[in-house]
Amino acid sequence: MRCPSCRYELWNLKPGPCPECSRVFSTTEFTLVPSKVHFLCPHCEQEYLGNGEDGLPAPRQFECGRCHESVDVALMSARPAPGVTSQQCYTDDHPWLDRGDRGWISTFFTTMYRLSFQPAITARALHGRSSLLPSLVFAAGLSLIALLCWTLISLGIAGVTGALNAALLKTTAIVFAGGLAWLVIVLAIGFCACLTHLILRFGIPAPRPLSYTLSSILWSSAPILVGTSPLLTTGCCAVPLGWGWFTVNASIALSVAHSISVRRAVVAMIAPFVLVFAFVFFGLAFAVVSVGGAVGGATS
Ligand SMILES: [Zn+2]
Ligand SMILES: [Zn+2]
Repeated sequence: MRCPSCRYELWNLKPGPCPECSRVFSTTEFTLVPSKVHFLCPHCEQEYLGNGEDGLPAPRQFECGRCHESVDVALMSARPAPGVTSQQCYTDDHPWLDRGDRGWISTFFTTMYRLSFQPAITARALHGRSSLLPSLVFAAGLSLIALLCWTLISLGIAGVTGALNAALLKTTAIVFAGGLAWLVIVLAIGFCACLTHLILRFGIPAPRPLSYTLSSILWSSAPILVGTSPLLTTGCCAVPLGWGWFTVNASIALSVAHSISVRRAVVAMIAPFVLVFAFVFFGLAFAVVSVGGAVGGATS
C-alpha cells in the first residue's frame, strides 16, 4: 500500500496518519492484487489473506478465528505475503516510476504498452507525485526515437535508389529540419497544455496544480510513436492515428488526474488546438487579403 498523497509505503503500519505526510489512511481505500497480501488482526496479529476481488479480505467485517474479537478490515495493517515483492501487490503502479529492479528495455516496453492501452491506470498511479522531470525525460526520449526512425526510413528509401551521397546530405537536412520541427512541436504542445490547464481550472473549487496537467499530457505521448511506423506511414494513416490516439489517452489521463468527466477533459484537450489553428488560419488569411489589397492598390 502506498500513501495516495506522498507514495510512502504503508506496509506493517496501523491505519492512521501517514508517517511521511500525516494524511490519514484506512486499509479499505486501496485496491491490491488478490491473494498477494496478508492482513493482520488488530487485536492478535492473526494473518488473513486478501482474497477478495480488490485484494482485501472479504467480508469487510468478521470475527477473528483466533481471538474471537470483531475485526474491521479498515483497521487492519497489511504486508506482502511471503515470497511476494511489494511491486507485485499493486494494481496501479506506474511502469516507469515504479520500475524497481526491472531492466531498462523491459521498463521501456512495459511503459509503452501501459501508457498506450491503460491511460486511466497510469494516470491514477501519478497521484501525489506529478513531478515533471521523469515525464519530460520520457517524452523527450520518445521524440528522439521518432526522429531517428524517420531518419532511418528516409535513409533507407534514398539508399535503395543508390544515391548514397545525396542520401547523406538529405539525412543531414532531415535531421536538422526534424530537430527544428521537434522544437516547434514541443513548444506548441507546451503552450496548448497550459491553455488546457486554464480551461480545466475553470469552475473547479480546488484545482490541482499545473504539473498534474503537464505530466498527464507528457506521459500520454507514447502513441505518437505510431506515427513513425514505416508500415503505417506508407498508408498515410500513421500520423493522424498517433495524434488521435494521443488525444484520447491524454483526455482519459486528465479526467483521472483532475477527477473530472472525460467529456470535459476532451473539450479542454481539443479547444486549445482549435484556437491556435483558427488563430493561425485567420491570421494568414488576413495577411493574404491585406497583402493582396496592397498589391492591388499599387498596380491600379
Ligand atoms: Zn503520505
Ligand atoms: Zn484476532
